[in-house]
Parts: sequence; structure tokens; C-alpha cells
Amino acid sequence: MGMLPIRYLTIHCAATPEGRAVSHEQITRWDRDKFGQTSYHWVIEIDGSTHRTLTDDQKGAHTGGHNTGNIGICYIGGMDAGKKAAKDTRTPAQKRAMRTLVRTYQQRYPGLKVFGHRDWPGVNKACPSFDVTGWIAAGMPE
Ligand SMILES: [Zn+2]
Repeated sequence: MGMLPIRYLTIHCAATPEGRAVSHEQITRWDRDKFGQTSYHWVIEIDGSTHRTLTDDQKGAHTGGHNTGNIGICYIGGMDAGKKAAKDTRTPAQKRAMRTLVRTYQQRYPGLKVFGHRDWPGVNKACPSFDVTGWIAAGMPE
């Protein structure tokens, strides 16, 4: 408790190869092994299924120095099949699921700011491999 108010929502990719059906359990295991805790509040698998991995009042570990009041959503994918380059690999089902989550949080927390990981200052990554602001401005299309 005590994490409210929620002011930010940050979208990430798992940096897994296009088409590989990595599970949310696997993502959580990797995060616990690497960081000692679960990173994200939600994971969206490639079939569009949406899995809660932290409650909103638990602090995530997904955006360095900016995890307070910041919901983290991770979609499986974000790299091309050869893991050579960042790529927006979101399936239509993942885009629909992401849109539903973003809209739900926007309605629940007026004034919420939605960013991609790379939009935070000092982040030198391609994550989440697409332009979050542009996608939202376009109406979050599939
Ligand atoms: Zn990220």
C-alpha cells in the first residue's frame, strides 16, 4: 500500500524474438532471477492474453528511478526473429489487449501519462520498439 497516486503507465517489450510464445510465468521467473523481484504489473502474451503479475499498489521494477506510481506493461516480443534488431512485433490481439489496458488506466486515473520505456530521460534502449505517443495519438489501432 501507499503507492498511490498512479501517475504514469510505461509500456515495455520483453525483447524476445518475433513469433516466440514466451509465457508470462517465464518473464516473471527471468525477472526474479535477474532483479530479485517481479518487474511488471501486466504481461501481454502473443495470443493477446493479459496476465496481471503485480497489483497496482505494488511497486514495479521496470523504469530505473521512476517506479513509484508507475504501472508497467510488457508485451512478449519486440525483437525480430533473429534477435538482431528492435521490431514492433505486436500481434493484432496484443494491440487490442494493450489498448484495453491503456484505456482502463486512463479512465481510472485522469491525467495519467503514458510513455514507452525509451521516452523516459536517460534511457538508451529501443524498448518497447514502437512509438507509444504516436500510437495513442492515432487511436491505438491494430
Ligand atoms: Zn523496457
